[in-house]
Amino acid sequence: MTEAYYKSIRKNILLSMILVPAIPFIISLGIGYYYFTASLENSTIATMKRIVEDHRHMIESFLTERTDDLEFILQSYTYEQLSRPDTLTRVFENLQARSAAFVDLGIFDQQGRHVAYHGPYALEWKVYRDEIWFREVMKQGYYISDIFLGYRKVPHFVIAVTRQGNDRKWVIRATIDTQIFNALVEAVRIGRTGEAYLLNAEGVLQTRRRSGGDLMEKPADLIEYPRSGEKNRTFIRNDTSGEAYLCITTWLRDKKWLLVVRQEKADAFNALRSAIYGILLIWLIGLGVIVGVAFYVTSRIVSRMKEMDSEKEQLGQQLIRAQRLAELGEMAAGFAHEINNPLQIIKSEQTLISMNFSELRDGGELKPSDTLAELADSMAQIDLQIERCAGITQAILRFGRQSEPKLQDVDLRAFIPQVMDMVAKKASVSGIAVTRKIAEDTPPVHGDPGQLQQVLLNLFNNAMDAIISKNGSSGGRLHISSGRKNDCNVEIQIRDNGCGINPEDLKKVFSPFFTTKPVGKGTGLGLSVCYGIIDKMGGEMAASSEEGQGTVFTIHLPAAV
Ligand code: ADP
Repeated sequence: MTEAYYKSIRKNILLSMILVPAIPFIISLGIGYYYFTASLENSTIATMKRIVEDHRHMIESFLTERTDDLEFILQSYTYEQLSRPDTLTRVFENLQARSAAFVDLGIFDQQGRHVAYHGPYALEWKVYRDEIWFREVMKQGYYISDIFLGYRKVPHFVIAVTRQGNDRKWVIRATIDTQIFNALVEAVRIGRTGEAYLLNAEGVLQTRRRSGGDLMEKPADLIEYPRSGEKNRTFIRNDTSGEAYLCITTWLRDKKWLLVVRQEKADAFNALRSAIYGILLIWLIGLGVIVGVAFYVTSRIVSRMKEMDSEKEQLGQQLIRAQRLAELGEMAAGFAHEINNPLQIIKSEQTLISMNFSELRDGGELKPSDTLAELADSMAQIDLQIERCAGITQAILRFGRQSEPKLQDVDLRAFIPQVMDMVAKKASVSGIAVTRKIAEDTPPVHGDPGQLQQVLLNLFNNAMDAIISKNGSSGGRLHISSGRKNDCNVEIQIRDNGCGINPEDLKKVFSPFFTTKPVGKGTGLGLSVCYGIIDKMGGEMAASSEEGQGTVFTIHLPAAV
């Protein structure tokens, strides 16, 4: 598989692993964000509206109470009584005791003449007939003026109430302390920048504005008035300084004054901003986690795929090799069979020749001579070589038949030395001292001798490979021992002083295809096949090793007797 193939798989897995969780995550967070911010915005506005309503009530109550104070005086005193300065002074003092908001008090006759006055200004006997407030109070019965300068040339507002006596209509008027009224209206605390002020119908300030604007000034900011049927109006607008404000406006009773409560938008929606930052943070972290996990899992999947592909590749190669070996084995068996037949004929012919030769020699037809002796030697040699060839072909044929196990009792005392002889040549060439200790009480085992031979040969060959890799061609030691383990088991041990196996590899030596040998040298199948053979025979196989010191393979097999 090419790198480009893995790259495209990696890209596809990565994309789906990021998009599949990220899309619903983003959508749900987006929906959550929308509803959350909307509800937060609504609750901020609702809170502000509640404050505006409460504030409106408070201001209206203040004005109503002050009007009622004046009504009460009108009920309690006659025109004549109140026209007397000493009575008016007493009444004013009582009034002041109830509310410090009163600055002065005056009594006016029907022509607008100021017949009695108690207060800090010299306003007695001034004529107010043409003043707006006087005309309005005469018309309506009571009147609360806008802020105006009047004769005193100081911004103030008045509350006036009329009384219709038997013979006359007269007016009582009180001036309200602008400072106290201002403080009352201003006393709204919302966040850092919240403020409240009053405008009259023409948009002129009736109280001071904290963010700038004195009494009787007309701020340039555009204000939206509540529409008919609307209790209050909410809007967001930039003021002349460019700052965006969240504003709520509501009419006071009689639509005379407009209460404006406003707060800088950033301040009002502070919680909203924090929530947005919080959601953004969750979004970033969530996305980061999704991307991180996707990268991690994808790289694990792709590297596992690479491993599996290369294992598959190796397996394929090994299968090809195994098939080739099997074919070779079959060919060798066929070949041995073919050779065996003529060999048998040669052997019988040779037996015939030998017989005739012996008869001729014994009958004295052939005179003893050196040539005759040489001829006899040659025929003996031919016999010997024919026997060798027969032995080799028999061995090849036996090898070919190994797949069908032939179970029998195997006497290990004779069997182990035979197998050891097979590797004796290789051992001596590599300078390996092969020793054995086959206990006399080693019981026979029941199994297929061919398979048992395969197991021992594999263990001997592995041991010799390990010895050679560590010691080269001198100093190697291979020791084989056997004996009765307990009543029903036999123990065979193969001990070497080779390179040993590290603890990590030791766990894997019996796994198929595990090999540390270079490609082409080891298949990694030897020990797993051995393990399978011993297991089938009802035995066990184990390895212990010390890296750099050597290895011991131990086999336990059930004893046949
Ligand atoms: P192969 O011989 O084809 O590698 P085996 O299954 O027979 O396959 O052995 C697996 C691995 O076990 C070997 O590659 C080697 O690393 C290790 N091994 C087996 N026997 C020994 C031993 N006696 N000393 C050191 N290592 C051994």
